[in-house]
Amino acid sequence: MEISYLRISVTDKCNLKCFYCRPDNQEFIPHEEILRYEEIARLVKAMTKYGLRKVRITGGEPLVRPQIENLVKLIREIPEIEDIGMTTNAITLKHHAEKLKEAGLDRLNISIDSLKPELFHQITKGRLEDVLEGIRMSKKLGFDPIKVNAVIIKGLNEDEALDFVKFAIDYGVEVRFIEMMPIGQGYIKWDEEMVKPLDQVREKIEERYGRLIPSTSIGSGAARVYEIPKLGVKIGFITPISNPFCDGCSKLRLTAEGKIKLCLRTDEELSVKEVLRYGTDEDLDEFLRKVLIAKEISNLNIQKSNYAFSDCVRVMTSIGG
Ligand code: SAM
Repeated sequence: MEISYLRISVTDKCNLKCFYCRPDNQEFIPHEEILRYEEIARLVKAMTKYGLRKVRITGGEPLVRPQIENLVKLIREIPEIEDIGMTTNAITLKHHAEKLKEAGLDRLNISIDSLKPELFHQITKGRLEDVLEGIRMSKKLGFDPIKVNAVIIKGLNEDEALDFVKFAIDYGVEVRFIEMMPIGQGYIKWDEEMVKPLDQVREKIEERYGRLIPSTSIGSGAARVYEIPKLGVKIGFITPISNPFCDGCSKLRLTAEGKIKLCLRTDEELSVKEVLRYGTDEDLDEFLRKVLIAKEISNLNIQKSNYAFSDCVRVMTSIGG
């Protein structure tokens, strides 16, 4: 088996407080436990032997970690890596976008759960206009595509689907709708009642724009991507609850304190920090071979469990969504 994609969480800190993501009284990882950029880059390089070509930097909020562009630079120096992305809330993106572009970042995914400033603030405690400024600046700098991720929550922002599509058209971005998962419980706990099955969102968009056409572009596999006829705007649906598709998953996650997380649905993790800090290249390679076997077994177990979520104790800010 190959591992083609790694999501790297660089911090568990965040400058927003989304109600479904950030718990009260979150205990942060002590500074010395957090992987250093050189350690992360060493792991990325070692994983290229097993097929790694694509990485995504996330968090917590990746832009709160000082000099995050230095990590981008280090990864950019690894010739096998074809694609470096970042998932950010974009609150401070306007201050970072230029440095990230220069460092070699390829793409941006930006989280926005509401286009209504008041509701955005209610969900996140942040200011929507800061995010929009970041998007406009990133577009000017040539980041393309920019993907906007919106978690759709029943009774809260489900009526905004068409607004997001219009936003995608106006801003020249793609939009990804996401079902809320029972992980990373924030200060308001997940409830099945919050999940809006996204086929209903899709129907609404089709009523307005006509039948969506499956897109030919290949993503990381988590989204089903469509295009609006004639407009060419891309819209993705990530449906881990109503229609999971994990088959053939070759994605891993690295937490900020150096745990390799095999799958979002379980708490199975293998710590790589000790090997990275004290081990030889051979030790690291042996560790990665164990990870590949564990990932294969995990994929089989997930299928057997019918894609159920276990009681994930880790919060999303420390997993890296
Ligand atoms: N701070 C960055 C951001 O906001 O994009 C990166 C980390 S954040 C955890 C990544 C994404 O995970 C966000 O789009 C967030 O909405 C999403 N997320 C967090 N908890 C989630 C959940 N329970 N279900 C689905 N998406 C979730």
